[in-house]
Parts: sequence; C-alpha cells; structure tokens
Amino acid sequence: SVDVIKTDAVIIGAGPVGLFAVFELGLLDVKCHVIDILDRAGGQCAELYPEKPIYDIPAIPVVTGQQLTDQLMEQIEPFGPEFHFSEQVDSIDKTGDGFRLVTDAGTTFESKVVVIAAGGGSFTPKRPPLPGIENYEGTSVYYSVRKMDVFKDKDVLIVGGGDSALDWTLNLQPVAKSLTLLHRRSEFRAAPASVQKMLELVEGGDISFKLGQVTELHGDNGQLTGVTVKGSDGETFEHPAEVMLPFFGLTMKLGPVANWGLNLEENLIPVDTEKFETSEKGIFAIGDINTYPGKLKLILSGFHEGALMAQAAHRIIYPDKKLIFQYTTSSSNLQKKLGVK
Ligand code: FAD
Repeated sequence: SVDVIKTDAVIIGAGPVGLFAVFELGLLDVKCHVIDILDRAGGQCAELYPEKPIYDIPAIPVVTGQQLTDQLMEQIEPFGPEFHFSEQVDSIDKTGDGFRLVTDAGTTFESKVVVIAAGGGSFTPKRPPLPGIENYEGTSVYYSVRKMDVFKDKDVLIVGGGDSALDWTLNLQPVAKSLTLLHRRSEFRAAPASVQKMLELVEGGDISFKLGQVTELHGDNGQLTGVTVKGSDGETFEHPAEVMLPFFGLTMKLGPVANWGLNLEENLIPVDTEKFETSEKGIFAIGDINTYPGKLKLILSGFHEGALMAQAAHRIIYPDKKLIFQYTTSSSNLQKKLGVK
C-alpha cells in the first residue's frame, strides 16, 4: 500500500500567497504541507521576475521577487512547513472527514483542508518542437530533475542557456557518466557565477560544451541513443546521449485545477470574501487563482485572503476550540509559536 502523508492542511502552490498562508495557518496551530510543480519556492516572483523590484508590499518600499520569496521563507520557518517541489497535484477527492490528494509523482496526502494557491496555474515546461519527443518523455527526456539517481552513470545531454540548464549542468556533472551542455549561442541568461563554474568544468575536461540546436532524436522504445544537432556553422552532426534535459523555459497553464469539480469562472475559482472558500466546503482558494467582486490580482490581496482563510480553516480543524483574536505584538502565546523571546 502507498504511504499516506496525514496533515491538517495541504497548500497547492508555493507562490508568495501560498507561503504567507503557512504563516497565518501556523499562528493558529495548523500544520501545512506545500506542493509546487516548480523546483523552488516563489511562484511568479521567483520564476518570472526574480530581479525586478516590487514597490507595493506594505512597509517595504522596494523588494525584488527573489528577496520577497526569501523573506517569506524566513518568516514561515518557525512553523516548519514541509515542501514537495517538482510535483504537480493531479487529483483531489473527498474522503469521510477531509480530502485525499495525489501528485503526479504518486505522493498521497490526507488532509482536513485544502488551500488552492495555484496562481495563474501550473508552471509547465515548454516542449521543444522535435518530432516524436513525447515517446521519450519520462523515460529518457526529462524537463525537471526529481531524483538525481536517474542520471547516475548516464551520458547526459542538457539543452539550454538559462539558470535551470546551468544549475543542472553543475549539479549532475558529478553523477553522470558524461555530460554535454548544448546551447544555440555562446551567451547565457544565467547567474554569472554559474556560467563561470561551467566554463571551468569545460576547461578541466569534466564536461563538454557544444553550440547548436537539436533537430532529431534517435532511439527505440522510449530509450534515447543520440540526437542530430545542427551546429552554429549550419553543418549537422550526431551526438550520442542516453538522457536529454531540455530547459526551454516555462509557461503557465491552468492544468489539473480544472478537473477538481470546483465551479470555475473564466479559469478562476469563485470564492466568498469572508472565508475565501470554494464551492466545496473545506477547499479554499487564495491569491491570483480566485475571483470575487472587486478582486485585484496583487500580492497584498492574497496576504489578506490567507489571514481570513486561516480563521475558517481553524474552525474545521479544531471544531471545539474557540479562536481568541490576538496580536503578534502582545501575545506571548503567539510569540512562543514564533520562537521569539
Ligand atoms: P503564483 O505566484 O502564480 O504561484 C502559484 C504557484 O502554484 C506556481 O508556482 C505554480 O507552479 C503552482 N501550481 C499551480 N497549480 C499547481 C498544481 N496543480 N500542482 C502544483 N503546483 C501548482 N504583484 C504585486 O502585488 N506587485 C507587483 O509589483 C507585481 N509585479 C509583477 C510583475 C510581473 C512581471 C508579474 C508577472 C507579476 C507581478 N505581480 C505583482 C503579480 C504577482 O506576482 C502575483 O499576484 C502573485 O505572484 C500571485 O501569487 P500566488 O501565490 O497567488 O500565485
């Protein structure tokens, strides 16, 4: 039988709103697991504009997308949320006293409440336009790294020139039998320090770097044996590879949210403005994914929604406990939970 993770709340989406929900729920003793298909926290802030400044977070005159993410992670640390990255929540089903959620990696949760903080939907990798690529996906073509073991002692080809391509080149080099990074130009859109490290590995003969674009895949029964590459000089050449990791960026797609049996309005989830609950009792929706009269798709709105959602979630999880309104400034009880003295 599958191991089931039992918890008070599952939060779908580790964007800024899902992260702050951990804080509001944590103050009310609600334990959370957070799931995101991305391999890190931050949602749009981390994925779409990590270095751009945000000017409308209350009391923080300017903060970048990545800094906001880092500060939220620090703020919620006392509550010990458990993160499940690179996993997409595929299904939600009602059980006797809560919900059962299953991810595309097979991880199963039983939770008393569900908080959908799915933003604009799942970040989904862009698929390179190569004929027959779908026959290799999941067996020798991967868009993310879930377990490094899959790449152990393999001839690995990484394609792309952004942060993901560079990060995984550095991380998989020690595990792979051989590793080649292929990019269509010699300029990279990645952290300069990673580019520098990659070039050092090339210099030392630990990996190879090639210029060009994959035009064809070769192999059988889902097992890749090599690719045809069109080099920068226009000449084509064959390159042997057992696994390929194309990192061509991500797009946002609503994804499985549409299949959960909830009412939807133009791909958004309608909620009330008292509890931010969906058409299903015990399932809440906060942040960019929800809609109600007057909704603004701003981070600060999502923070407010999380605070009110937490009150309602508490009533479901602790039906016999009365909630007493408290300030973090003056409640020693709340301060104990936050670990401050
Ligand atoms: P998101 O940040 O979209 O995060 C949702 C997460 O859920 C994603 O990581 C996604 O992968 C994940 N997810 C979805 N479905 C699933 C699933 N089934 N399984 C697993 N994971 C799933 N707002 C401001 O307030 N001020 C600004 O200055 C500002 N500037 C912006 C600039 C740009 C360029 C952009 C694009 C947006 C800006 N925004 C700004 C908007 C702001 O980023 C969003 O309002 C905010 O990110 C919404 O947060 P969220 O947590 O609701 O969703």
